[in-house]
Amino acid sequence: MSEACNRRGLMGGAVAAFLALGLPVRLAARTLGKERRDAMTPAGVIAAMLAGNARFMKGERLPADFVSDMRATADGQYPAAIVISCIDSRAAVEIICDLSFGDAFNARVAGNTVNDDILGSAEYGCAVAGAKAVIVMGHTGCGAIKGAIDDVVLGNLTLLLARFKAAVQATPGDDRTSKNHDFVDAVARTNVVQTVAMVRARSPVLAGLERDGRITIVGAMYDVATGQVALVA
Ligand SMILES: [Zn+2]
Repeated sequence: MSEACNRRGLMGGAVAAFLALGLPVRLAARTLGKERRDAMTPAGVIAAMLAGNARFMKGERLPADFVSDMRATADGQYPAAIVISCIDSRAAVEIICDLSFGDAFNARVAGNTVNDDILGSAEYGCAVAGAKAVIVMGHTGCGAIKGAIDDVVLGNLTLLLARFKAAVQATPGDDRTSKNHDFVDAVARTNVVQTVAMVRARSPVLAGLERDGRITIVGAMYDVATGQVALVA
């Protein structure tokens, strides 16, 4: 699937050469640039990120030259996606999807939720800067979800965790404690689904771009034990 989508989405000459040789394609096979980013389809962006995750899982990340990528993107950025993910130290999308400088915008907040500021950032990323995908990425073993399940009360965190109560309530399960890893991960998945719905409901800008086929809005879960990113919504 990913290769078919890559063929459709990644049109750059260097990328075509890589494909002809049967070599893997990094989202930024050096850096993305406007022409290649604009030629990608929304589905092609998702496929390229999942292909990067497959490389990561196999320990086959492509050789990185971050200094070169930093220099190549100094005059402008043309990211293909905006990823709304948790602050969790294990969930850096550039690493787990084998990305580089200029590939993706990042909005990170505990529990990968959205508010007006994050939605505004995503609107900038897509409507102004031309990104083709909004990816809400939760993860297993999420401390924010555990905190919501446990009704943790602590300063500003109290209000943040309250955002996940709806996901806790909507998730079935008998042992509804943070000690039950399956329940914690099920709530995290519910939260991703609800957050994707929230993006569409609270951002007519993004919903309109998706309706027009210019972007895709998807949910994903990252498994901190296996390294796999899987689409969930
Ligand atoms: Zn988390």
